[in-house]
Amino acid sequence: MANRAYNFNAGPAALPLEVLQRAQEKFVEFENSGMSLMEMSHRGAIYEKVHFEAEALLRELLSIPDGYKVLFIQGGASTQFAMIPMNLLRSGTKAAYVATGSWATKAIKEAKLFGETSIAASSEAAAYKHIPSISELKYDSDAAYVHVTSNETIEGTQWAEFPDTGSVPLIADMSSDILCRPIDVSKFAVIYAGAQKNLGPSGVTIVIIREDLINKPTTPVPTMLRYDTHADADSLYNTPPTFAIYMMSEVLKWIKENGGAAGMEARNREKANLLYEAIDNSNGFYRGFAEIGSRSLMNVTFTLANEELEKKFVKESEAQGFVGLKGHRSVGGLRASIYNAVPIESVSALVSFMGDFQSRNS
Ligand code: PMP
Repeated sequence: MANRAYNFNAGPAALPLEVLQRAQEKFVEFENSGMSLMEMSHRGAIYEKVHFEAEALLRELLSIPDGYKVLFIQGGASTQFAMIPMNLLRSGTKAAYVATGSWATKAIKEAKLFGETSIAASSEAAAYKHIPSISELKYDSDAAYVHVTSNETIEGTQWAEFPDTGSVPLIADMSSDILCRPIDVSKFAVIYAGAQKNLGPSGVTIVIIREDLINKPTTPVPTMLRYDTHADADSLYNTPPTFAIYMMSEVLKWIKENGGAAGMEARNREKANLLYEAIDNSNGFYRGFAEIGSRSLMNVTFTLANEELEKKFVKESEAQGFVGLKGHRSVGGLRASIYNAVPIESVSALVSFMGDFQSRNS
C-alpha cells in the first residue's frame, strides 16, 4: 500500500498494517459463518472464541499472574476515573493520587466527586515536565489506594519504574503505554487502559484487577459501573464492543509475533532514541519538553523557538505526509506519538524532515 501516512496521532493511533489487512480479509464474512463478526451474537461460539482468545493473549503477553481478572469495559479510561473511586474508595479512607499531568489531573477531579483524595506528590510546579521521584511519595498507610498515570500522553512523561506501595493497592492508568514494555503486574492492584493507542481501535477499555478488590460496593453503584458485574460475567454481562475486541485480539497476535512486550520495548527504545537524539543534537533548535529522566517512550514532546515556527513545522510536515504532530492544545508545541505500531520508517522519515526543516529555518 503506497499511500500510508506517517501517522503520529496521539489516539486513536496507528495500527499495524498487517492487522488491518487481516481484518479486511475477514470483514465481510467471518470464519465461514455467512456473516460479518459484527452481525453475530456475542453469546455464540464464534464470538466467544474471539473474546476469550483476546483475554488469554493479554494474560500471556503481560504475564498476568493468577488471582487477577481481566475485564473488557466500555466508556474509555475516562469511565475508569469514576469506577475506581466508586468501587474502591470506601468512606473513612482517602485515595492518594500522584499529580503528574493532564490525565492524572482528570482522574483526581473525578475521584473528588466520590470521596476524599490526597496528593501523594505533584510536579505541577515544574509544569509537569517530570515524574516525581518515588522517594517523594507521601500517603496514609491506610490509604484506599495510590493512583499513578504511567505515561502522561500530553506532556510526554513516563514512569521509568513504579513504587512499591506495600499493602496499599497501587492503581495505574496505562492507557498510553500498556504493553510498550514488560511490567511486573504483581506490583499493581488495578491496571486500566483504553485500547486506542497500543491495543487496537477505540471502544474497549481493559481492566486488570486483583480478585480480592472485586467486592460488592458499600454504596449504591450502577450495575454497569461495578467491577463485580463484569467480573462475574466474564465481561459478557451486556453486549460487549465485539468488533473492537476482535481488533484488539489481532493487535495482540501481532505483538506476540513481534517479540511480545520485550520485543515492543526494543522497537520503542530504538524509535524514541532516534527522535530524542535528533532533538538533543539540534543545538537548541528543537527543545525537548520533558526532563530527560522522565521522557516517554510513547509521546515525544518538543518545542521550537516560537509558535510561528511551530505552525510552519506542522504545515510543512503535513504537506509531506506527516500526520498528528501538533502538540495537544493545552500545552502547545509539537508531539510525535510513537506507539507500538508506528514503524521505525515513519520515525526515520520524521528525523530527516526535522533536519531538513532546521537547515531551512536557522
Ligand atoms: N488516560 C490517559 C493517559 C490517556 O491518554 C487518555 C486518552 N488520551 C485517557 C486517560 C482517556 O481515555 P478515553 O478517551 O479512553 O476515556
